[in-house]
Amino acid sequence: MGELLDIRRIYVEAGAAELPRGKEILGRWPEATIVEVESHQRIPELYGDETNVRRWVRIKREALVVGVKKTMTARPNGRSADFIAPSTANGCAMACAYCYVPRHKGYSNPITVFANIERVCSYVKGHAGRQGRKAEPNECDPVAWVYDIGENSDCSVDALISDNVRDLVELFRGLPDAKASFATKYVNRDLLDWDPRGRTRIRFSLMPPADAKVLDIRTSPVGERIAAIDDFVAAGYEVHVNFSPVVVRDGWLEDWADLLDQLDAGIGAAAKRQLAAEIIFLTHNRGLHEVNLGWHPRAEELIWRPELQQVKRSQNGDLNVRYRTGSKGGYVHALTGLIAQRTPYLRVRYAF
Ligand code: SF4
Repeated sequence: MGELLDIRRIYVEAGAAELPRGKEILGRWPEATIVEVESHQRIPELYGDETNVRRWVRIKREALVVGVKKTMTARPNGRSADFIAPSTANGCAMACAYCYVPRHKGYSNPITVFANIERVCSYVKGHAGRQGRKAEPNECDPVAWVYDIGENSDCSVDALISDNVRDLVELFRGLPDAKASFATKYVNRDLLDWDPRGRTRIRFSLMPPADAKVLDIRTSPVGERIAAIDDFVAAGYEVHVNFSPVVVRDGWLEDWADLLDQLDAGIGAAAKRQLAAEIIFLTHNRGLHEVNLGWHPRAEELIWRPELQQVKRSQNGDLNVRYRTGSKGGYVHALTGLIAQRTPYLRVRYAF
């Protein structure tokens, strides 16, 4: 944990400091300097110079923000989950080159954790209760309503900071028609003791190690993520894999074949029986590309490939890029074909 987090300065909203969860978090780092802030969303000193990687990695490691989540919503999703649960954190101590989270929150993007977890839990419980039983199977899950609890953060790392994620995992044990889910790039073995009783799905993100080395900065190595799968299944989690982002480059399919072989060799029969995958090809963004050029141009050689990509202006005016429509179907087909060959038990929930 020392490598990833060494909290020295905690920015806290007064309302959060008074809550039991806020007190617990502050109590975990008694040596840290406490800075009271009016709003967890406006802390200019945390933004820093976007290309000063040393500064923002330091901020990620040393700063923590504790706030109160104001609005509760469960946004319909329909792909990896039926709903996006209200977040209990945002920001991340890791620093993947393609991550979209910093686009919204300033590049250093340290973890903000919300102290009003009881409100989040009671909202989720009420929302799930109102859905009743799921009438039709869909690509999220055949029977349960799936709630993504980690859209804007990595729950395995959040669990190093507070019991928020554990509270949610325990809540979902008792919700008969709903299931929690989150994608992760970090192996936190503390989660193995939480007894999730099959009601939480962890999606380990995987990509060929050659790509991860350049793109997945500060995360657990891909081999360590694969090696954790059996243990998480034995501990009562449903474990899926998240192939994302898939990066097209010379030799990409050969490297994916090797990764699938590594996955196949690294997991046992119990994991294979329940395994499924989601596949998401890379999307990128011009603003992020420009930031990355300032600190990590090697990553951009991999993920900024105008000859393969097309640009689309998003609703908020950002220029997003993705692989060209004409070729993308072929890439998807090639990768799903490889899966059918190398890991035929691996059900593909969706691929795009
Ligand atoms: S682990 Fe997830 S949230 Fe964290 S930097 Fe990587 S992509 Fe972003």
